[in-house]
Amino acid sequence: MLTIQNFRVEHLTSGCVTDERRPRFSFALESDRQQFVAAEEWKGVSLKSAVLTVNGETIPTTEMICVPYRGKPLLPFTEYTVHLSAEDTAGERAESELKFETGRMNAPWRGRWISDPSYRFTEKKVSPKPMTFLKKIRPEKPVRSAKLYATALGVFELELNGRKVGEDYFMPGFTSYKHNMQYATYDVSDQLCDNNELIAVVAGGWAVGAFTYKRTNRSFANRQAFLCELRIRYEDGTSEIIGTDESWLVSEEGKYRAAEFYDGEVFDATVDYHTVNWKRAAIERVKFAPVLKAQYSAPVRAHETFEPVKITERENGEIIYDFGQNFAGVIRAELNAVRGQKIVFRHSEILMDGALYTEPLRSAKAEATYIATDGAQTYSPRLTYMGFRYVSVTGIARENIRLTAAALYSDMPAIGTFTCSDERLNRLQKNIEWSTKSNFVDIPTDCPQRDERMGWTGDIAVFARTAAFNFDTARFLEKWLKDVKSEQKRTGGIPMIVPWVRVPMQLEIEFTMAVDFWGDSCVLVPWAEYLARGDLGILRKMYPVMKKYNRACRFWAELFSFGKRRRIWKLLHHYGDWCAPDLGLWDWMRRGKWTATAALANSSAIIAKIANLLGKKEDAAYYANLSCETAKAYRAVFTDGKGKLKKEFQTAYVLPLYFQMFPAGEREAAADHLARLVRENGYRIATGFPGTPYILFALADHGHAEEAFRMLLNEECPSWLYEVKAGATTVWERWDALRADGTCNTGKEDGTGGMVSFNHYAFGAVGDFFYRRIAGIEATAGGYREFTVAPLIGGNLTHAAASTRSPYGEIGSAWKLENGEFTIRVKVPVGTRCTLRMPFGGERILGSGEYEFSQPVRPASGDDYEKTGV
Ligand code: BGC
Repeated sequence: MLTIQNFRVEHLTSGCVTDERRPRFSFALESDRQQFVAAEEWKGVSLKSAVLTVNGETIPTTEMICVPYRGKPLLPFTEYTVHLSAEDTAGERAESELKFETGRMNAPWRGRWISDPSYRFTEKKVSPKPMTFLKKIRPEKPVRSAKLYATALGVFELELNGRKVGEDYFMPGFTSYKHNMQYATYDVSDQLCDNNELIAVVAGGWAVGAFTYKRTNRSFANRQAFLCELRIRYEDGTSEIIGTDESWLVSEEGKYRAAEFYDGEVFDATVDYHTVNWKRAAIERVKFAPVLKAQYSAPVRAHETFEPVKITERENGEIIYDFGQNFAGVIRAELNAVRGQKIVFRHSEILMDGALYTEPLRSAKAEATYIATDGAQTYSPRLTYMGFRYVSVTGIARENIRLTAAALYSDMPAIGTFTCSDERLNRLQKNIEWSTKSNFVDIPTDCPQRDERMGWTGDIAVFARTAAFNFDTARFLEKWLKDVKSEQKRTGGIPMIVPWVRVPMQLEIEFTMAVDFWGDSCVLVPWAEYLARGDLGILRKMYPVMKKYNRACRFWAELFSFGKRRRIWKLLHHYGDWCAPDLGLWDWMRRGKWTATAALANSSAIIAKIANLLGKKEDAAYYANLSCETAKAYRAVFTDGKGKLKKEFQTAYVLPLYFQMFPAGEREAAADHLARLVRENGYRIATGFPGTPYILFALADHGHAEEAFRMLLNEECPSWLYEVKAGATTVWERWDALRADGTCNTGKEDGTGGMVSFNHYAFGAVGDFFYRRIAGIEATAGGYREFTVAPLIGGNLTHAAASTRSPYGEIGSAWKLENGEFTIRVKVPVGTRCTLRMPFGGERILGSGEYEFSQPVRPASGDDYEKTGV
């Protein structure tokens, strides 16, 4: 039987409100047919053809991913039903339906931007007081439906008649406000009554509040502003629009006394909106005119709830709650208190001597203060979030409070699983998942706790492939990439943080913005997304950005470098082997010429592949040649020409090996040298951000699987399992964030100005190796239309299983070694083709279906075949 699964519009299965003129539809199919064709080949089914019917238009297609709407223009504020009928190659049919709604589609706003003109806010490094807006609404007639459209400069929280509107946090989200902005749409039909009070609290957020480690404030506006429209449709067919204007009231004396990301929130529950000193709001002139679009992000929402695993009371009266997991989110308190009672919640990632250790937070206070009313009440911050595992509570007796916590992160479906026979790796996988959740908070951040939480591009550049296995990052990263495109400098550089907020940096950094790996995010992230989701559209959109960026890199690489040094990219600024262990900032940066030159070779090679996919043959040849020439320069300048580096360090071997920059002969020698370095270092890792994602591949794919597994399973510092053994529940920024002697490596003396976080995903990029090598699932064409399953046996693992939901459906690889036999179960989605390479020899071509194969274990492991990674 054939069924349609995961039918979605703009990547959403429900609740989509979009301003896209040509929204994209995708679906997967499931079928129980599979057929043996010939020796080693099984044929499944695939889509023969499908028809989408919407808006009276019929859209035939043979594609399953991102089929754009075609036909007469969609109307604004309209609900559409899409009907899908699909037929597979076996002649079976299936049908499905999906609803979506259009947003404003550029309809002019009746509402105007409003603010409090009397609020002067000039202080540096702090956030403004939250503004509370009030509007009383009395519908004239019986209401059929009511929808709110809202956005703000700042982040807003809406309340209608005392009830929160919608589930989102921090809307309108963080975008390149000068260029792109979102508005939210909420259906309030059921919340509206005869006499309504609509409250909007707008905190400084990213646009006005203190943000970045320099606490830059007023980056996009001098004070908050709010824009909203309530569109009511009455039962009698008439309608009314209530927009923001001078009839709205505003005050800075609302319940939120303070709210910002780093310091937290002060919430005064004793405030009575009826006695607040309200002023009239005024029309506000907004500095920029960004394109305002219906929310296209994966909005931040509350997900898992945590109960404390341990509660301790300290002599100083503090109650310390341990939630057993480091994460980004907020506390939820149910308490009994008296009016005016002040309860303070402080947060930290680790404890030292039983007390909260807040040194790594730097200037972030990470505190929530609640001023209570009388009796039973609840409190949970709404306009801030923290990265924490521990909470200290003061100002209330333990018996009067019940504390839980909620994880906040962007709403992206979890689509991947990895487990194996080694529990330590399973914990590491969980830690990777939690560092992803904690740092996918509207934008990909570096860390969720200290005074940063910025969209550092290098971190996601190295992590995107791992993230793509575990989560459906389509909406989340598409939104971010749109900003990468908007923020590209005229010179081609990509800011190191996106969205860009002016941070006083060294002049040279601001000047070039072409920084290896960080800038390469404009190539590596869309490429990872394409491989995982199969949407050529993302490559098409980003291709001009990549070309321009590549030109900038080439310019800097060629400036003042001649002869064989041409394309050794030294200038101007590089982060180099960022966070490599036992070194400091300047040592990392000094390795920049190796990392940058390798990065140029790699991104040029990827751009060549993309050019081919987009049918740009000439471009493809140009970039392939550039990659080749750059690789040659790397070898000519940094190696002895026989695969040995003149100055040896792990990353300098890893990058050219993984990026295929060595010709045969030199390649094996280089891999042997890397393996030697690794052995000499006691199988401990010595790479920073650039080398870490690839080191195990560089070893395992070149005949050193043994060393790769020994490194992966090493528990000595620095290593992934050292962190696990130390009790980590997320991935750390530094390999030795917590030293073996129990002290914290605060990074005070190494030039980073005190940079240590226990929740940074970059080193979690090893998760890619779990999926692509241990389970062996590797996309060889976008969206896994074609993929290989080629498990790598080693490290004494006796079983491993991974699954990831591709756009075509679920892919699975689960193997075990038992009684001298290797058995594997493979799941292949409809419309895809899998090449299964058995570890002890043999290859099979599999169409859609579920399979199980066994073979006897041969003592010599099966790395006699080449991996075919893209
Ligand atoms: C961040 C990193 C980031 C780096 C770049 C740090 O402060 O936390 O993750 O990529 O700066 O210099």
